[in-house]
Amino acid sequence: MFWADEFADKIIKSGKYRPFHVDDMKTPSGRIHVGALRGVIVHDLIYQALLKRKVKAVYTWVYNDMDPMDAFPHYLPESFRKHMGEPLYKIPSPEKGYQSLAECYSLQFKKVFNSLGVNPKIIWSHELYAAGKMDKIIRTALDKVEKVRQLYHEVSGYDKPKNWYPYQVFCPKCGKVGSTIVTGWDGKKVEFECRKDLVTWAQGCGFKGRIEPRGENGKLMWKVDWAAHWKVIGVTIEGAGKDHMSQGGSHDLSSAICKQVFNYPTPFTFSYEWFLAKGGAKMSSSKGIGVSAVEISQTLPPEILKFLMVKTNYRQAIIFDPANNESILKLFDDYDKTQAGKDLPRFRDVVNYIQSPSVDIYQQFPKAEKKELDKRIKYAKIWLETYAPEAKKVGILTDKVVVNLSWEQKKFLKLAAKLLEKDWKDPNELQQTLYQEAKDNQINPKEAFQAIYLALTGKSYGPKAAWFLMENKAEAIKRFTNFDDLETKSSTVQSTKTDLIKLSPEFVKKYPSASVGFALIKGVKIGKINADLEKEKLEFLKTVSGLTTEMINQYPEILSYRKMYKDMGVDWHSKRPSPEALLRRIATGKGLYNPINVCVDAYNLIVMKNRVSCGVFDADQIKSPSVVKIAQGGETALFLGDNEPTALKPGEVCYFDQLGPYNMDYNYRDAARALATEKTKNVWVNVDGIYEITPDKVQKTLEKTVTIIIKYCGGQVTEKGMLVANDQT
Ligand SMILES: [Zn+2]
Repeated sequence: MFWADEFADKIIKSGKYRPFHVDDMKTPSGRIHVGALRGVIVHDLIYQALLKRKVKAVYTWVYNDMDPMDAFPHYLPESFRKHMGEPLYKIPSPEKGYQSLAECYSLQFKKVFNSLGVNPKIIWSHELYAAGKMDKIIRTALDKVEKVRQLYHEVSGYDKPKNWYPYQVFCPKCGKVGSTIVTGWDGKKVEFECRKDLVTWAQGCGFKGRIEPRGENGKLMWKVDWAAHWKVIGVTIEGAGKDHMSQGGSHDLSSAICKQVFNYPTPFTFSYEWFLAKGGAKMSSSKGIGVSAVEISQTLPPEILKFLMVKTNYRQAIIFDPANNESILKLFDDYDKTQAGKDLPRFRDVVNYIQSPSVDIYQQFPKAEKKELDKRIKYAKIWLETYAPEAKKVGILTDKVVVNLSWEQKKFLKLAAKLLEKDWKDPNELQQTLYQEAKDNQINPKEAFQAIYLALTGKSYGPKAAWFLMENKAEAIKRFTNFDDLETKSSTVQSTKTDLIKLSPEFVKKYPSASVGFALIKGVKIGKINADLEKEKLEFLKTVSGLTTEMINQYPEILSYRKMYKDMGVDWHSKRPSPEALLRRIATGKGLYNPINVCVDAYNLIVMKNRVSCGVFDADQIKSPSVVKIAQGGETALFLGDNEPTALKPGEVCYFDQLGPYNMDYNYRDAARALATEKTKNVWVNVDGIYEITPDKVQKTLEKTVTIIIKYCGGQVTEKGMLVANDQT
């Protein structure tokens, strides 16, 4: 016989626990742990068993929201620390949409147990107090304080001093309850103090006074409070977690107080075991999955989460270890066994099939209900994302790839795409050929295969490449030949905090749409000329063979810079921002810019392709930090190709370092002192965004600029990021 049925029979037969009122309680001091669901479920099972026997029964759930905040949850902002010691229902909600911190965590927890089909009536402790329903029992507790003290001693071995009372006042001055202590009771009012050093976790204000112990003036101490709730609510059935059930523990003491002080029979009780959730490193940190009821409920369907608790006898501990390879897969299997006659798609098969794109999962489960299958697909994806050990993942094609491929890796992918065009029958043969292709092209095979996984899954490892490629042939060919897609999707900002550069407040204020990309590349070797780069330049030239000045005038990027020049008070007819100047040469038949050095030539190619201006400088000639700011006028610098220094006019946006301007009008011209030359070892990259040149475009251009410099000059990025004006206002 099911244990809850046994309980129900026993309760009914005894004749002692009428009317049948099942209850449990919880203090909502933070995100409620998934383990607390056990109490909700265990009580619900008894309640349901009673209903099944055609007796009248109620089920209530009390939130002890008057308790003080006595521990500080790590996820709360520091600004909440001042609320330590205050009653939970008076502390503002950390999240929108709730009246208080207590209500926030209570209702979130309620939502979870409601989703499991458990719907006890909620009782807010503070409402009982506020309505005066506790007034009488508070008086009783105070009047019979000697008996209470005696029980504390007899049952639990506590020796409470003569001036101890089981009541805590909410300090009328500072609002705290954790710091107050009642020192006297004259039958009308209690005498109390709000002590600075009563507890370590909250500091009182020192206030002393007298107050009537009623309404929301204070609350009973919790072991007395527990018993008082039983009587006031009329609870007749309430179990407790085993931590409360030790001999002489809180339940024993509350029971004694209930009977001997409040003259109310102790409810039918039982002790239920722990529900422990193992939060390994994987759960707690790297994937951000904690062990609150809300978090766990997002990773399992409600019927499975409920099954986890229902299947286990209340006297046995549940150890929930979701990061363990088999635990959730097995949980689904066990659940399915209880659903005789239902055609449930086996969860572990769903997990495998969704990782094989060539498999039509709906064909694999022809008898399964679509709704049920869709649900399992959803939770299989969640399982793979949150709990699955890496070994279970045979490779999932993902469209959220974040890649940072080297030149060699891209070259290899292009070769791989060509190989894939052939009709491969044997994956082993393809695997061998890919390996040989990497070797033949002096590409490290390990890095070559990593590139395949990166482009398809965003991860640097995966299942056997050939098998995976044959499964995803079309998509692989597409991605291996079109890096633009990959790189667009990869546009992640590495850093927004840097000591190297900042935007001045005036600049931010005047140009809120501005953004600046920056990168520091160390250890470059800049040559005079590079044959591959020359080829790339000529290829580009072919793509813009029909370019006209009218077309240039239409580009939103060019228009954006012109608008900015107008804002700066600079005539864009006489000074043209670098993308426009470079493209105009081509449109007017002057051809490509003259070669300067490999670094400058390379990034200018990106400037033309993206129509976003960049500056690349000798980092060792720049005295950081740089500031993008609006010139006051009169600042001078010797610009490239000039014999005399030029004085800036007020309003011109320039890059300054600690020595002065090194670039004027947002990359119109560079100062001679900071040029990237063949002697340069480290380069400093800037990319300029304004208006239509969004932070995304800047990011993309930055990535391409960095990539092309490393491709032709080598080096390593040591710092890279974006400053977005709008983020700084
Ligand atoms: Zn106080």
